[in-house]
Amino acid sequence: MQPYLWQQAEKFRHVYDTAAWYPIRIDSPFETLCGRTVTATARDMVTGLWFDPTCFECELKLATLAGWSSECLERLRHVQRGRKDGDPTVER
Ligand SMILES: [Zn+2]
Repeated sequence: MQPYLWQQAEKFRHVYDTAAWYPIRIDSPFETLCGRTVTATARDMVTGLWFDPTCFECELKLATLAGWSSECLERLRHVQRGRKDGDPTVER
């Protein structure tokens, strides 16, 4: 079992700790890495039909837990903002 897994719920794809919440069940609330308590519906459990956007907070926390360097985490933040290096609107 992987320590963390993605699960779509309440309009975003979140990450959860499998030690605490696996398996996710329909209509049963679970906590996400971003600190929310969400509930998956039957629609959210259909593999291959996760069209809701990624939760950026969960993505960033997962990358942090995976040991990404501060430089890589900052690049991820930029990607999440839809910005690229050299973009004059990026804060330095
Ligand atoms: Zn989240």
